[in-house]
Amino acid sequence: MRRKLAAGNWKMNGTRAALGALEALSRAHADPSVDILICPPATLLAEAVEAVAAFPLAIGGQDCHAEIAGAHTGDISAEMLLDAGATAVILGHSERREAYGETSEAVRAKAKSAQAVGLTTLICVGESLTQREAQNTLDIIGAQLALSIPDTSTAENCVIAYEPCWAIGTGLTPTPAQIAEVHGFIRATLTARFADAGDMRLLYGGSVKPGNAAEIFGIGDVDGALVGGASLSPADFSPIIKTLEAAL
Ligand code: PEP
Repeated sequence: MRRKLAAGNWKMNGTRAALGALEALSRAHADPSVDILICPPATLLAEAVEAVAAFPLAIGGQDCHAEIAGAHTGDISAEMLLDAGATAVILGHSERREAYGETSEAVRAKAKSAQAVGLTTLICVGESLTQREAQNTLDIIGAQLALSIPDTSTAENCVIAYEPCWAIGTGLTPTPAQIAEVHGFIRATLTARFADAGDMRLLYGGSVKPGNAAEIFGIGDVDGALVGGASLSPADFSPIIKTLEAAL
């Protein structure tokens, strides 16, 4: 039985003033029937961990370097995330693939490093609008899965997030049939490679809001969501968590 996961990606948003809202969110979900993960900016990691220490809410990073230490100005290693109290890390987000040219091979190296120190990796895959319109979605997702996921992945340390690039921050979402098709494809692809693929969690991400969460969480093989904009406000994220709990 896969435990559902509601993950929030704050991206480059939030200062220490946001920690009060984070604590309020964790207080409001003190005994959740789903896993809850918040990935704040790196500057807030340690304080966020402290703010939610009494609650089951987990804190994660948004990226890490493939190496554990070294001359990499501005970068953060998986070991540093762990040291700050993070238990997970988002990798291969389309904003990083697009803005920094992150390849799937680079994502795989980061994921291997993160898994080696004991972090859960949320590996993102997703097609652009051009790729979808050219009917290349499954080819693109298949290649990203093959190259981005290290062999060290298990249902314990790896979560896959399907995030169509054109749905992120746009208010657009795929149809339920489109999400079901891609999630079914991801499950089948993982099954061909990993013995415990049936237990690996698959998240949908891209403009998940309180108003569309029930429909999305009702789709087979959707084990939760990676939420950007709506995770910044407990007034939006809390109903999404409750909807996921109700979908069990
Ligand atoms: C994201 O950044 O992973 C995301 C899904 O963003 P949004 O929910 O704002 O579309």
